[in-house]
Amino acid sequence: MIPSDIIAKKRNGEELSLIELSFFIKGFLANEISDAQMSAFLMAVYFNGLTEKELIVFVDEMIKSGQVLNFHKSKSYIADKHSTGGIGDKTSLILAPVMAAAGIKIPMIAGRGLEYTGGTIDKLEAIPGINIAPSLKTFKKWVDSVGCAIISQSKNICPADNRIYALRNLTATVPSIPIICSSIMSKKIAEGISGLVIDIKIGNGAFMKTKNKAYKLSSIMKKVSRSYGIKIDIIFSDMNQPLGRFAGLGCEVKEAIDCLKGDGSQDLVNNTFELCSYLLIQAKKAKNKKEAKQIFDTIINSGRGFEVFEEMIKAQNGVLEKFYKNISPKYEKIIRSNHSGTIKYMNTEKIGWSLVELGCGRSIKTNKLDFTAGIEFFVKPGDVIKKGSPIYRVFNKDFEKLSSTSELLSKTVII
Ligand code: URA
Repeated sequence: MIPSDIIAKKRNGEELSLIELSFFIKGFLANEISDAQMSAFLMAVYFNGLTEKELIVFVDEMIKSGQVLNFHKSKSYIADKHSTGGIGDKTSLILAPVMAAAGIKIPMIAGRGLEYTGGTIDKLEAIPGINIAPSLKTFKKWVDSVGCAIISQSKNICPADNRIYALRNLTATVPSIPIICSSIMSKKIAEGISGLVIDIKIGNGAFMKTKNKAYKLSSIMKKVSRSYGIKIDIIFSDMNQPLGRFAGLGCEVKEAIDCLKGDGSQDLVNNTFELCSYLLIQAKKAKNKKEAKQIFDTIINSGRGFEVFEEMIKAQNGVLEKFYKNISPKYEKIIRSNHSGTIKYMNTEKIGWSLVELGCGRSIKTNKLDFTAGIEFFVKPGDVIKKGSPIYRVFNKDFEKLSSTSELLSKTVII
C-alpha cells in the first residue's frame, strides 16, 4: 500500500477500508509513515470527516496501538471523566480525588494543552517531581491504593493518540469531530473503565463553537462508548468565558486545591458537581442529584477530597511542599478597564492564545512551559465595571512575553 494513495483517497472524500486505516496508523507508529504524511491525512479528515464505519476502525486501531488496562470490576466502579477542552478548566484535578473519596476508582489518562486550550498534564507538571508516565503496573497500583491517579498517554498506553495529539496541536487540525472523538474515546476505553462522563464545552473558547457541532460530537461519542459496553453521560457547558478565577499552569492547580479545601468559585464548583453527580448515579452511590450533592458536599467539607488529592500527588512522587515556590511568578501586570460599563463579551479563544504566548502552551515544538504563568480574572460577562478597575492580572517569569500578552489581552473584552 502507498501512504500518499491513502491520503489522496481521504482528500477526495472516499471511504477508507479497515486495512488501509490500520496500515496507516501502524506505519505511523513504526516511523514508516512520516509526521508530514500523518499531518496531511489529519487535514484531509478535518475537511472530509470520517464515516461511522471508518471512525469505529480508527478508534479501535488507536486503542490497539498500546495496552488496555483491566481492573477487578466487582470490587469498585471504575470510571472517568474527560472534557473537550477549554480555558481555566481544572475540573479533572478536583473530580478525580472527590470521586475516589466516594469509592469510585478513577484511572485517568489526560492530555497536554491543545492549541489555545489548557491540558491537565501540563498543569500537573507544575508540581515538582510528579510522575505522569509510569509503567502501567505502577499506574494500576496507584489507582488500587489511592483510588485515583492521573497520567498521560505514553509509549505503553494510547501511543497513537500521544503522537497524533502533538501533531494536531501544531497543524490546525484539532477541531475535527471524528478526530476529537477518537482521541478522547481511545484513551478512555484503554483505561478499562465501566462508566464515563464527558463535558462538551460550547462557545467562543471551545472547539465546538456551536450547539449543532456539540450535539454531533455527543451523538458519535455515545455510539462509540456503547459499542465498547461503557455507560456514558454527556453534559454541555459554557465556554464563552473562562472557567473559575484563574487560567494558566500552576495557578490552576492552586485553584483546584483551594476548591478541594472549600474555597472554589461558584462556576467551578457547579461544573465539577454536575460531572460528579452523573458518576455517583452511574455507580449507584446516589439515587438522584440531591443525594449526589450531599455526598459531594460531605467530601469537600470534611477535607477528605483534599486528603485524597495529597495522597495521589504523593503516590505519583509529587512534592507539594515545593509546589508554591515553583509557581511563584517574577512579573505581573494589571490590565484595567478604560471605561465604565457592563462586560458584554469575552473572546475566550483569544484569552487562550494569550496564555500560549505567556508560556502556558506550545505554538512551536520547542516552546518551554512556564509553570508560573497565568491570568487572574476579576470580571466575567454580565459584570459591571468602573473605569480604571482591574479586568485581568497577568503573571509569568518572562517580561517580554508578559508585555506582548498584555497587548493581546486588552483586546479580548467588549464593555
Ligand atoms: N481532549 C483530548 O484528549 N483530545 C481532544 O481532541 C480534545 C480534548
